[in-house]
Amino acid sequence: MKKLLLDFTKDELSQELALFDLKPYRAEQVYNWICGGADFSEMTNIPKSLRETLSEKFVAVGSEIIKEAISKDGTVKFLYKLNDGNLVEGVLMSYKYGYTLCASTQVGCRMGCAFCASGKDGLLRNLGAGEILSEVVEANKYLRKKDKNARIGNVVLMGSGEPLDNYDNVTKFLSLVTESQGISQRGISLSTCGLVRNIRRLADDGFSVTLCISLHATSDEKRLRVMPTANAYKIGEIMSAAEYYFKKSGRRVIIEYAMMRGFNISESDAIKLRELTKNFPCHINLIPLNDADSNLVGVNRAEANAFLKKLLSVGASATIRRSLGADIEGACGQLKRRYINGGNNEN
Ligand code: SAH
Repeated sequence: MKKLLLDFTKDELSQELALFDLKPYRAEQVYNWICGGADFSEMTNIPKSLRETLSEKFVAVGSEIIKEAISKDGTVKFLYKLNDGNLVEGVLMSYKYGYTLCASTQVGCRMGCAFCASGKDGLLRNLGAGEILSEVVEANKYLRKKDKNARIGNVVLMGSGEPLDNYDNVTKFLSLVTESQGISQRGISLSTCGLVRNIRRLADDGFSVTLCISLHATSDEKRLRVMPTANAYKIGEIMSAAEYYFKKSGRRVIIEYAMMRGFNISESDAIKLRELTKNFPCHINLIPLNDADSNLVGVNRAEANAFLKKLLSVGASATIRRSLGADIEGACGQLKRRYINGGNNEN
């Protein structure tokens, strides 16, 4: 199989290309091209014969955007086709402080959360580091076409997949994206359903991305009803791993909590949530459940505000996540399912 150039750091690329008896500055030229998402045919300052030789051994581009859905609020949902034909989604959001890309880390997911569309068909495969990077590269290419100065400043690993179930590739991606797209760890959030050992490993390996924990319930019994991983990892263990991450990285941890009517938004839930998050700096991100693909029910604005008020009144730090792209199936996995099922999703 041909190697993907985006999988290499700049140094690794020079080493790979050193085998080809080319001038050292050529590796730098190739590197600059791939950071911009160029294919071999576009690398105009590289001799054609060299491009041909390289393309026998390598692929330059990791994915292609085959569909875009643009929301009225400016959010753009991408459907990426990987080189083996697999599909993943990404969402480009525009905030006051810049552009954020929500990227996928696996094709499908094996965590099986009841409310999440991405895991409905299980895990197909992990994404390679260069493939995750390619989502950012392609989205930056898309942005540049609209405005040559626009670029992605933040990445949230909240698309399809469980990042900590693909540890090596995801952590390699973290280094690649800094070097290649200038996005530092401070600009990256990694969301996990709570794989305790790898949360600790992330801390021990010295990472400082913003860690987001998908909690969604305040007791293990309740959590297990919607998240099968609750069987393996108890809330107590997850929160102590999160505290460990905070201590090592110095970064406040985000607790994600999808509000579900009649399930997790009572007064006692608010009190328990406060208890769980009071030992170290945590911020609770309340997400109105998008219930399009499950039989769990979301909340209306009044219910969401009432739960927020309860949390604030017991001293928690919490906000309701702004819901973007509601008209373009912004929630996980939905555009891909619609596309595969042959539905019309033109926007
Ligand atoms: N596997 C990672 C990333 C998943 S997606 C994780 O579990 O954190 C990012 C967030 O979206 C998670 O908090 C996930 O639980 C949440 N999510 C998934 N489906 C959702 C839905 N239908 N409505 C609201 N949030 C959802």
